[in-house]
Amino acid sequence: MRVHVLNVGSLRWARGIVGARTTGQILRGVARGRRSSGPTDVVPMLSYVLEHDDGHLVIDTGVGQALAERFRTESDLVSRRALEVTVDPDTEVGPQMRAIGLRPEDVRLVLLTHLHFDHAGGIEHFPNAEVLVHRTEWDGRTAFGGNYWRLQEPAWTGVGGPRLYDLAPEPYGPFDASLPLTDHGDVVVLPTPGHTRGHVAIAVRTSDLTLLFTGDHLVRQSWYAADLTRGMQPFNIIAKLTADTNRRLQRFVTEFPTLVLPTHDAEAAENLARWEPLNLVYGDSGFHATPASSTPRSENG
Ligand SMILES: [Zn+2]
Repeated sequence: MRVHVLNVGSLRWARGIVGARTTGQILRGVARGRRSSGPTDVVPMLSYVLEHDDGHLVIDTGVGQALAERFRTESDLVSRRALEVTVDPDTEVGPQMRAIGLRPEDVRLVLLTHLHFDHAGGIEHFPNAEVLVHRTEWDGRTAFGGNYWRLQEPAWTGVGGPRLYDLAPEPYGPFDASLPLTDHGDVVVLPTPGHTRGHVAIAVRTSDLTLLFTGDHLVRQSWYAADLTRGMQPFNIIAKLTADTNRRLQRFVTEFPTLVLPTHDAEAAENLARWEPLNLVYGDSGFHATPASSTPRSENG
């Protein structure tokens, strides 16, 4: 199985929002506005393409230029103050797949970690795929910021609507529920609520590593490791659910050799090429993580 990471655009956040650990840090970021942003406040939007034996599979799709433009001109003031979206039509997920010799028409499954527009906004590139959406996520699509943060309904016309699924009460490692998607059971959906209520991660088992596609639950694998080293729990929107998901993730990566691949990780391509498990070692001074974080995060004051 080959895994491709495609960079399909970028998000520029106001300083302090990316990797924020408290609601206060996010609100202070909004107050500063996006003109305050520095280098680590710009994150890529990634789309992962897996050439699987059962057919091509895509995890998160980025956003197309039309939707990005609607976000820029029509979303509420707070959103516009906090975030700028940059998309180039030539580097949307469809054209990029063609550029590496893959046909978007051949994609069988599109998996969305959640329905935020920067993950679900590129589905129109996959006319023959089933687009799988966790029912809890679908039911919550009109929650806070629903109009522009969640995928807008018109985008579903032409792709036949989402195929909704429920997770089965089948434990998978530290997770209480799961849903295998392939005959071999090597691609499994896991519940990771926190960023949104219906957020999921996708675990893909290979011969030596589990690839864990964590959507927006984490920003970067290296930051997550560094946070655990310092005894912190990275922040997500629904704090209580996040703390529980973090505990399970932490157990997951210690139980299985895991490479964590979030959707906005600027180091994802490098980490994929290195093909090494995230190594969290619990010692006297708390968690010790290798590879250690090499990228300083913006100051979250
Ligand atoms: Zn999101």
